[in-house]
Amino acid sequence: MTHSFSDSELAAYLEEDLDAERASVLEQVLPDDELLLQRLQTIRQQAASGEHTLGSIWRQQGLSCPSRKTLGAYLLGILPQEQALFIRSHIEMRGCTTCRANLDDLQEQQTQNQETQAARTTKYYQSSIGYFSQRQDEMDS
Ligand SMILES: [Zn+2]
Repeated sequence: MTHSFSDSELAAYLEEDLDAERASVLEQVLPDDELLLQRLQTIRQQAASGEHTLGSIWRQQGLSCPSRKTLGAYLLGILPQEQALFIRSHIEMRGCTTCRANLDDLQEQQTQNQETQAARTTKYYQSSIGYFSQRQDEMDS
């Protein structure tokens, strides 16, 4: 059984954006496929040599936009620098409106989550205070 992978799939794999099923097939065949390993190595080196190269590989190979998961990680600032740089150039220099909209949406969600979290904490303290002062009143009377 032979499996062939396109350069764009290999690049997607390096970006951890390849779908899980293809990625697991790739990981199975990779150790025994010298040629595939070499191609992966070449793409990795090209990608590592700068954001422009990574961006142009992405464009040339017609790679899809980063996933929402990746964008979310980018917002949280937990992406590797290389990947974060690419996303920034993809959005700011290439001006990808899809990713921009996704990013705005995710940002709003994260802000909302933080607000909900803060509101919950405040509410918890308020109700505890309410509870204790009520107990105090009961004891006083
Ligand atoms: Zn995009």
